[in-house]
Amino acid sequence: MGKALIVGAGAVASVVIHKCCQNPDVFKEICIASRTLAKCDAIRKKLDGGRTKIRTAQVDADHPAELAELIRNFRPDIVINVALPYQDLSIMDACLATKVDYLDTANYEPPETAHFEYKWQWAYRDRYRDAGITAVLGSGFDPGVTGVFSAYAQKHCFDEIHSIDIVDANAGDHGYPFATNFNPEINIREVSAKGSYFENGKWIETEPMEIKRVYDLPEIGPKDIYLLHHEELESLARNIRGIRKIRFWMTFSQSYLTHLRCLEDVGMTSIKPIDFEGRKIVPLQFLKAVLPDPATLGPRTKGKTNIGCIFQGVKDGRPRTYYLYNVCDHQKCYREVGSQAVAYTAGVPAMIGAMMVLTGKWKQPGVFNVEEFDPDPFMDAMNRCGLPWHESFRPGLID
Ligand code: NDP
Repeated sequence: MGKALIVGAGAVASVVIHKCCQNPDVFKEICIASRTLAKCDAIRKKLDGGRTKIRTAQVDADHPAELAELIRNFRPDIVINVALPYQDLSIMDACLATKVDYLDTANYEPPETAHFEYKWQWAYRDRYRDAGITAVLGSGFDPGVTGVFSAYAQKHCFDEIHSIDIVDANAGDHGYPFATNFNPEINIREVSAKGSYFENGKWIETEPMEIKRVYDLPEIGPKDIYLLHHEELESLARNIRGIRKIRFWMTFSQSYLTHLRCLEDVGMTSIKPIDFEGRKIVPLQFLKAVLPDPATLGPRTKGKTNIGCIFQGVKDGRPRTYYLYNVCDHQKCYREVGSQAVAYTAGVPAMIGAMMVLTGKWKQPGVFNVEEFDPDPFMDAMNRCGLPWHESFRPGLID
């Protein structure tokens, strides 16, 4: 059916590529591109020989003209951006210049400030609409499936949703004293930032990890959850009608938090360059270099993830609660695609989002967050593609 150019060859990209190859009727041909050709070739070597034809290319996606040239040579129907959030705008520019659809899993973040929001990417709306191309923003798990879950709850279960609590739990154990489950730089920037949530039309800011609760998750059990700011809060606050409150919660162990606090206290998580032996280095980038590479955690990580949304609202004039969630087993994911569940849960929805665009189900000129599309075909594909979802009408609630 179509051709996809996949930018990035890291942990999430590897899952996307495995999943594209499992769906050769949709993904006839793919090209894997990143700055390091050897990483792209290593993934191709594992998967070559199937019905999806695989090519590789070297590209620095910070340079739109370089990427546009690759797009003109390969002529993809969609570009799947699973590089880093810093490349979002330059990849969107290259897609605009070549009139090719775009999809990503994380919103733009300027390299020099640990601050992400959608305004930079939403500013492309008119230009994408006028060019007749589609951009799907945030098609990972969170953001991604959490938005699709919200659209599904709104469509099928509520007249109005009043509150959403997104709970992202990872009960996996990789055996290292400290490691991050995806890109350490992006992960540490996210968890060391101030928290925030949306209530009654206002954003309320909290200190990092200031608000803690305990939540009893299906198949995982009770866990400490902490309130964080997370990017889908911004789009869901706009796109879910009647919404009054949205919060995002993530599990962290005491040991993870103690390590993080020590690293912060000694300045290792700073993104301000410092002088070191005659050259400038960014402490967080140095820390990334000494921490375990998330791509190597797969074989060692045991346990499960559970990510879902707890909704409260009204249906036919009566209050209702509803919980949608997915549980993934790290070892099962590893056996299937050679990656642990954190990369798996981000990569599978990126493939499904691209499948939605290539099959015409989410093909619409403009720039959209996932909750603006019909959730039904995406939810069906989740059940077929390794992310089965569960529902409950009597979930525990978070006060
Ligand atoms: P990795 O660090 O493992 O991989 C990033 C890849 O991007 C590498 O292959 C790197 O290769 C490539 N890359 C970096 N800079 C450039 C560039 N200038 N040009 C071309 N390629 C580049 O990250 P992850 O796979 O863990 O994460 C990928 C994305 O997924 C991130 O944006 C992350 O925020 C997002 N994510 C989303 C989740 C969700 O649920 N929505 C969950 C987890 C992650 P090289 O350096 O060789 O170029």
